[in-house]
Amino acid sequence: MKSFWGAFCLLALAACSGGQDAKVDGLAADNWVTPGGDVGKSHYSTLADINRDNVNKLGLAWSADLGTNRGLEATPVVIDGVMYTSGVAGRAYAFDAATGREIWRYEPQVDMQVNRTACCDMVNRGVAVARGKVYVATLDGWMVALDAKTGKPVWRSDAVVDRSRGDNSTGAPEVAGDVVVIGNAGAEYDVRGYVSAFDLETGKLVWRFFTVPRDPKLGPQDHPDLEPALKTWDPDSRWDVGGGGTPWDAINYDPESGLVLVGTGNGGPYAVSRRSPKGGDNLYLGSIVALDAKTGRLKWHYQETPGDNWDYTSTQPMILTRMKVDGEERPVVLHAPKNGFLYVLDRRDGKLLRANALVRMNWANGVDMKTGRPNLTPESSDYTNGPKIVFPASPGARNWHPAAYDPETGLYIGTVQDMGNAIYMTPGRKPLARRMLNNDAALLFTSDLEAILPTLPPPLRDAIAARPEMKWVKENPASTELRAIDPLTGKTRWSRPMGGWQDRGGALATAGGLVFQGSIDGHLRAFDKASGKLLKEIDTGTAILAAPMTYKVGGTQYVAVMAAWGGGGFPYVPPYSAAYRRGNKGRVLVFRLDGGPVPLPPALPPLAVAPAPPRQAPGVTPQTIMQGMTLFFGNCALCHSNQPRSITPDLRRMSEGTHAAFKEIVLRGLLLPNGMPRWDDRLSEKDVDAIHAYLIDLQAKVRAEELEKQKRGLPLDAPGLTILSNY
Ligand code: CA
Repeated sequence: MKSFWGAFCLLALAACSGGQDAKVDGLAADNWVTPGGDVGKSHYSTLADINRDNVNKLGLAWSADLGTNRGLEATPVVIDGVMYTSGVAGRAYAFDAATGREIWRYEPQVDMQVNRTACCDMVNRGVAVARGKVYVATLDGWMVALDAKTGKPVWRSDAVVDRSRGDNSTGAPEVAGDVVVIGNAGAEYDVRGYVSAFDLETGKLVWRFFTVPRDPKLGPQDHPDLEPALKTWDPDSRWDVGGGGTPWDAINYDPESGLVLVGTGNGGPYAVSRRSPKGGDNLYLGSIVALDAKTGRLKWHYQETPGDNWDYTSTQPMILTRMKVDGEERPVVLHAPKNGFLYVLDRRDGKLLRANALVRMNWANGVDMKTGRPNLTPESSDYTNGPKIVFPASPGARNWHPAAYDPETGLYIGTVQDMGNAIYMTPGRKPLARRMLNNDAALLFTSDLEAILPTLPPPLRDAIAARPEMKWVKENPASTELRAIDPLTGKTRWSRPMGGWQDRGGALATAGGLVFQGSIDGHLRAFDKASGKLLKEIDTGTAILAAPMTYKVGGTQYVAVMAAWGGGGFPYVPPYSAAYRRGNKGRVLVFRLDGGPVPLPPALPPLAVAPAPPRQAPGVTPQTIMQGMTLFFGNCALCHSNQPRSITPDLRRMSEGTHAAFKEIVLRGLLLPNGMPRWDDRLSEKDVDAIHAYLIDLQAKVRAEELEKQKRGLPLDAPGLTILSNY
């Protein structure tokens, strides 16, 4: 095993002693040591055995069925022939990277009540491997260290500060010197953001950095960096519902500076006018904060979205590299958060070097390069007193799907989404509450806005239709592309259209002249990285969102990707996705030259007519059904979209048995182990009866419609769908 850890030390410098002298530019070769490949997470490999000339011979080497139909977002790590990766809810796996033989799997006991406050599926974005241990965070917020050889837990530490709130955890932990750092998620609920650093060996908490202040009435702040932040909030902010800022993904250790760069989340609730009524920048929302890895103290920060009002997280992946900027070689961080800019910052001190807009935007009009502040445009984007159309939309110009940085061409390669949303305060100003989805802004994506407008109440419809941005909507409602971008100019060198706004798979660039990317239509594709020309596509029959990676073992180069639909908007399975046609068989797929075909999961049978629902209970009135509908949309609809082929049950198609057990399932957690939480703390029996009455009514209507369609020989599939909710 000497060579095992020796090789790891050479490549994953951060994990070894002398981290202060280490550099980020040890690029991935045979091993792929972090989910981003190298310490800088450039999603780039120096391997070139698979290249432009032979990639047409790529085929399947092995695959592993992970036994899930929920989302997979992780990029695996490979060290000396062993692949480590994570799956649903923080499960972890080790495979022989050449054969696919499972070495171990770790399936944590997760409290599935966490699904009550997990906005975006039960995903996990990867593991960290160091010092003979594999680190993974569970969905319910436990940081776990596993023995890399056996998968047995070595320690387990609670990474949640207050378990009465809606915290969860979905990101990959980051090893930073002697600690492993993990953040929380839940800014759509009642959560205050923080990252926690645990001792690599013992799991003891070493430091914790909160990204937003607490109520000053409770006394001094948790750490001194929050005192200046407090001045950027209204003293009468809604501290009771957390404030948001949850760092649910990007955490990057820079061994050259000893800093941990953390991307922070959106404000909670979204509307600054409700969160911090007098406004303010609301530090450290929508920021990169650079923390001393030893102490957790703030060294610098750069706020990308001051006073976030639009769910613009800065949690999107960062890339640490080196670049010549204005004639000077600099250590830089490349960052494209949701807000539409691609930033280049000096990672030593956070100095802003570039901020180029990648998409149409109207929340800001450029960035003042002297002050680093965006020029905010509240006349276009403050929706407190009426609807606005704001670009980019809440899913972001970029999201969690990793981009690659190719040091040979200097190109930043990733998916970019040019889409906006109409946004307005939820009618009636619903009360903000603990453990509730506290979204107070309704979002209508411009992809479907013209189709939705006629269905809106006339005053709202007319106010949206009168917005000047309707011109943009008519020109191009939405487009999503894989782009190769010059990060210093923001200019696109080449681009490829994606299938739709949900289709934004992660990228891998290689020294073989290739870019690999998966698509939710189920294809893994290889492009020429210089031109974007499609060189090879393989139909896998499974939707792909995660980033591919590559490694070499036994003299053979492999390309691997985790495949399954899920994540934000997970219950809405787009009809063009493989998940709609072939279900959602969560798999690890591994390819090599001269490999075989991918066995396609069988096509799903045509949709069957919804079964007959039971009779309504005595006493059910139209008012009961209306009340049930309101309760359903307030509590259930985030996970149950009630669409065909959804990865959560379509409740318009419940069987007799499900109807019979309805109350047991909803109130008392009969299906808790499957992920369906219990609701008896929030819903009464009468509430659940009303929801059931609504669903019985809906099922009867759907059945009648479908019987009619069947009679006329029409397909039962519904047309494309719009998400009215958000992340
Ligand atoms: Ca969010």
